[in-house]
Amino acid sequence: MNDERCDVVVIGAGLTGLAAALFAVRRGLDTVLVGRTGALGFASGLLDLLGVHPVGGHTPLEDPWQGITALRADQPQHPYALIDNPAIERALGTVLAFLAANGHPYITRPHRNQTVPTAVGTLKTTYALPCTMAPGAMALARRVPCLLVDFHGLKGYSARQIAATLAGVWPGLTPVRIAFPEAHGELLPERLARALDTVPAREKLVAAIGPHLGEAAAVGLPAVLGFYHSPAVVAELQQGLGVPVFEIPTMLPAVGGLRLRELFETALPAMGVRSLWQQWVDGARRLPDGRWRFSVAAPSGEQHFTARGAVLCSGRFFGKGLHADRHGIREPLFQLPVVQPPHRADWHHKDLLAPEGHPINRAGVAVDETFRPVDGRGRLVHDNLFAAGTLLAHQDWVRQKCGSGLAIATAYAAVRACAALI
Ligand SMILES: Cc1cc2nc3c(=O)[nH]c(=O)nc-3n(C[C@H](O)[C@H](O)[C@H](O)COP(=O)(O)OP(=O)(O)OC[C@H]3O[C@@H](n4cnc5c(N)ncnc54)[C@H](O)[C@@H]3O)c2cc1C
Repeated sequence: MNDERCDVVVIGAGLTGLAAALFAVRRGLDTVLVGRTGALGFASGLLDLLGVHPVGGHTPLEDPWQGITALRADQPQHPYALIDNPAIERALGTVLAFLAANGHPYITRPHRNQTVPTAVGTLKTTYALPCTMAPGAMALARRVPCLLVDFHGLKGYSARQIAATLAGVWPGLTPVRIAFPEAHGELLPERLARALDTVPAREKLVAAIGPHLGEAAAVGLPAVLGFYHSPAVVAELQQGLGVPVFEIPTMLPAVGGLRLRELFETALPAMGVRSLWQQWVDGARRLPDGRWRFSVAAPSGEQHFTARGAVLCSGRFFGKGLHADRHGIREPLFQLPVVQPPHRADWHHKDLLAPEGHPINRAGVAVDETFRPVDGRGRLVHDNLFAAGTLLAHQDWVRQKCGSGLAIATAYAAVRACAALI
């Protein structure tokens, strides 16, 4: 029977788990990462820090850092209230530097959120943009006349709809639909992105767009401009067309999130993280000396890891980090206490679209300032178990527009505390 030792096991390979493994290996910890890759495969690739505060307000935050300061005062139990701004900046800086070093640079503006158009023509506030989307934020800010391109057969993305919806705030958008060069079979975003990693497809795309350029000073396309080499693909299209080119995030599954996932899956093992992708931790037991013994159901047979500490990044209901049934909400792996409304009838408001969100959205695992789970009276559950990400209580990342920031910042704080302990 396979039985390996390590310093830390990270459970869950969504953005929180991936970031936690990165922080852990950079701190010199012998790290094992086990898990499914979570929501990342569906995400846009945009990294939000804090887009809205207070929830229910309709004005997006211009300065997310000021917003976090206000959030701490208003919601002292929010996970962001357990980390100071310099630590959040360090956490984001580490991840952004890692992405840039692996060929996927992001653009931020000092103390400012940025706004980009979406596939349905709404405006999305975010903090860090893949460099391939950044010229779109600039074009929007300056109301530059743009050509918006889409492709016959690409579902869930309409240049005409984007132009029509944004006409009031961004006049001068001209939609055009063209045939995707070298299209075979169904036009899935990932397939198009991989096709555009090749030179002939890019040359044909430039040739197909060129005649429609007119007075356009920039060109927006769905976010399918290359899978592995998107910055180079965008640069080459810009050179061919003679104007800035930018990507607009597509509907799910979005290439932006898939690019991130692929990057982490390649880079972390190269950095020394022992990675068990898409595997499931189905048992956690505390040994008499305090270490954790985990069992992992791998295709090759059951594997065991003995670790001095663990970071739980198992997400919410969709990924089975939390389980809800008629008796309540449970954390299934460690049976951790879960903060939740006292009765099932209180999980949701009567108003489905209640702007402040539903109480169940804020259910989750509560932690102390070292990101170790605590019970309802604030007592530590295990001294060497840490938790991070969307699993945590007292936050509503969807409404607060803080998914990636919460994932990265809490992973950083949890790993920092774990490293200090072990
Ligand atoms: C549709 C969509 C769009 C998004 N768009 C944005 C965006 O524009 N900007 C932004 O900032 N954020 C966005 N996000 C959010 C962002 O992707 C998440 O906040 C981020 O992925 C962090 O989630 P997580 O890692 O905590 O949880 P998850 O992504 O849920 O990952 C947890 C993983 O752990 C696995 N797991 C659970 N238990 C075990 C176990 N016992 N063993 C092994 N694995 C286990 C789960 O199956 C899951 O795969 C989006 C998310 C979604 C779903």
